[in-house]
Amino acid sequence: MGYNFSAGPGIMPAAVVEQIKRDMPSYKDSGMSIMEISHRSALYDEMAQQAETDLRDLMQISDDYEVLFLHGGGTLQFTNVPLNLATKNHHVAYLNSGHWAKKALDAANRIDGLTVEDIQPEKTGYLPSIKNPSVGPLDYLYVTTNNTIEGTTYHQIPKINTPLVADMSSNILAEPYDVNQFDLIFAGAQKNIGPAGMAIVIVKKNRLHEQPILSEIMDYHLEAKKHSALNTPPVFCIYAAGLTFKWLKQFGGVDRIYEQNQEQARTLYDSIDNSKLFKNDVPTRERSLTNIVFKTGDDNLDQQFVTQANRQGLISLGGHRLVGGMRASLYNAMPNEGVDALIDFMKRFEIDNGG
Ligand code: PLP
Repeated sequence: MGYNFSAGPGIMPAAVVEQIKRDMPSYKDSGMSIMEISHRSALYDEMAQQAETDLRDLMQISDDYEVLFLHGGGTLQFTNVPLNLATKNHHVAYLNSGHWAKKALDAANRIDGLTVEDIQPEKTGYLPSIKNPSVGPLDYLYVTTNNTIEGTTYHQIPKINTPLVADMSSNILAEPYDVNQFDLIFAGAQKNIGPAGMAIVIVKKNRLHEQPILSEIMDYHLEAKKHSALNTPPVFCIYAAGLTFKWLKQFGGVDRIYEQNQEQARTLYDSIDNSKLFKNDVPTRERSLTNIVFKTGDDNLDQQFVTQANRQGLISLGGHRLVGGMRASLYNAMPNEGVDALIDFMKRFEIDNGG
């Protein structure tokens, strides 16, 4: 029995995978698999509607917001967000908190006529603060709530006057955020939700306007009007997402999983901090609960750790190629036993390597 610590796609709850297997031959006795049912059928409508309702319950999303299930993963939203939301002042700001934030910033910079402020951290090693930028007026301030590669998180979102847009790809449903603080939230599905290829977009209705110059499929307003089925929607992804939402509701919702995530992360950070071999340099208040990075300081030893862990069934512990070291991604589906197994292995590895 192994444990998958991959940053993305992340692990899915075992119960969800089992349900998919059971449903596969004949979804709801239709004689067809979920991949074959028409997106213009009552079966689809009911499934997609239920997924949306369950997500609304989990995140307490009010009727002031549309919930969209769109193709293209998180990355397509890097372009769609400015094209749909930066239409008034043509001026936006990005908190440059890491690799994915920079990608989003670069995508915005490619748009003609848009002024993009690049907000850097005030202190090295810390996240740039969420506050009203001194420039403006802005169509939005962009924040990446969890930086998947660097292992940093904005756990608190202060109330400010500038509209906020959030990329929550790697910690949506892992810790509670107040949706009402954001004009738009998006997340690629493949970490805490379901298979890759889909993004969930939660957007305030009053920010939506038809965008005559955009391709229809990039226009949030049209997608909302067509209930995300302007073209053939990502049916399988929506179905799997719906199962994950049901699983999370049964588990006790976001507050309950947040407790578990805090406990798992605390145990792992404690063992890193108490070790003589491993270290994590992230300031405590910014440490991610989801992507926990650590290293020995010796690239060869890090590599040995990852290879030996893999042999023990502790899979995908290598850090992102840009930063090296190790990274344990503890998405919602990670059982406590997975974290315990990792900590046991770290202790043994430390002893074997002179600790
Ligand atoms: N944003 C964040 C924070 C991510 O971690 C990732 C992928 O890991 C993305 C965006 C890109 O998502 P996708 O691969 O679905 O385009």
